[in-house]
Amino acid sequence: MESYLGTIKSEFTLSKSKLQELTEEFQKQLEIGLKCTDGMLKALPTFVYDLPKGNEVGKFLTVDLGGTNLRIGLVELLGNGKFVIKKDSSVVPDDLKCGSGREIFEFIACNIEKFLEHPEIEAELPLKLGFTFSFPVEQKSLAHGRILGWSKEIDAKDVIGLDAVSLLQSALHSRGLNIAVEALVNDTVGTLLAQIYRDDRTKMSVILGTGSNAAYVEKSSQVIKTKIDSDVTVINIEWGSFGDGTNTNILPITRFDFRLDNESKNPGLQKYEKMISGMYLGEIFRLIISELVELGILVWNDEIKSTTPYSIKTKHMSQFHEAFISNNKILCNNLIKYKFNLNPLCDSDILALSKIAEMISLRSCYLCAIGIVAVHRHLLKTNLLGSNEMFSVALDGALYQRYPNYSKILQNLVCELDGVGVEVCRVVLVMAEDLSSIGAAAAIAAAKK
Ligand code: ADP
Ligand code: MG
Repeated sequence: MESYLGTIKSEFTLSKSKLQELTEEFQKQLEIGLKCTDGMLKALPTFVYDLPKGNEVGKFLTVDLGGTNLRIGLVELLGNGKFVIKKDSSVVPDDLKCGSGREIFEFIACNIEKFLEHPEIEAELPLKLGFTFSFPVEQKSLAHGRILGWSKEIDAKDVIGLDAVSLLQSALHSRGLNIAVEALVNDTVGTLLAQIYRDDRTKMSVILGTGSNAAYVEKSSQVIKTKIDSDVTVINIEWGSFGDGTNTNILPITRFDFRLDNESKNPGLQKYEKMISGMYLGEIFRLIISELVELGILVWNDEIKSTTPYSIKTKHMSQFHEAFISNNKILCNNLIKYKFNLNPLCDSDILALSKIAEMISLRSCYLCAIGIVAVHRHLLKTNLLGSNEMFSVALDGALYQRYPNYSKILQNLVCELDGVGVEVCRVVLVMAEDLSSIGAAAAIAAAKK
């Protein structure tokens, strides 16, 4: 086991020079993405021209379709950066994820109807709806977005190329609901706008949930590929595709990443996301455990379950890592037996598994840090940010919120990559928990003015 751990460590550790190389490459790709439409990074203009000021008011319905959860909310913006939200969340059923895309939109409309019938929800129709949709879309205006494709193991081909707003709007109309979908925002954009509503110094947002992506405030003159009628705008980087493309092998892909990618629903695509986000870390962990079983070092107790892809969730890898850190042996053993489907392990093997979880999560942290630092360097270079100015980044997603020490380590890595200590580092990461719906509401309210 020890020599195996050594091998894994050398595969998953990134040298300082590799990290700098990746950061430079990321910045270069971002700048290419702003110039042309066929870059590795899509750097999508979002048609958000009016950033919230914090004084917007009004009541809005919000829907957030992530890769795992559907969240519906009734948001009241109160001004002064304050808001109240009543919300409900449900899990998107697996069979919907690979069926007809129209059914996904019908599922959303059906859940909205149920939400509005809830006795605690005091809302009168008509209502304006802000739609947070965390998949790549090409926008032509704030309330129009052509679906470019799916990610995060959703694969509903029949709606690709169609407008996500129209699809939701017609599902609502067919239920007789007088609700107008007025804004379509990516979850990164929603999180960014919500945090700007609370604190207008915010410049960037990053999601670390089922998937991973980021958005930031950009000078419109930098977006050479699109004419934008305002000084600044929001760019949805779609950073998950960093490293994609046949002639590029910039990412430190291991054989596990290679296999995961090959067996995924979107081979060759979203390679960076596949090394970072919650959908995939548990699967990388399972592939390593599978190799340990093949080598005769560990033994499955339930071979059918354990050889099923994605049977180990990042959530369980995270709970195991946390239980190990807090010396909760009972929980460690339960997770090993019921979630990893392995026979009982000796202490040294448990330690080894926790080291493997640590290497996978640490690599995710490092890769995320290079994206943040690359955007920071780009903003310094183009003078959107002064060298002494704070660079405040809003973060959200279950991986960031709940993986043990993830948020602390990410902050440290960002400072390390920037070559300064945490005390003087200008990049400040802020937890923006479940805020993307607030941002969708703020987008409607700000655009009205
Ligand atoms: P969404 O992406 O749908 O908006 P979340 O932000 O809740 O949803 O992220 C869900 C992802 O986070 C899943 O991949 C899940 O495995 C992972 N996750 C859930 N709980 C934890 C946890 N405690 N630690 C790390 N990851 C978690
Ligand atoms: Mg989300």
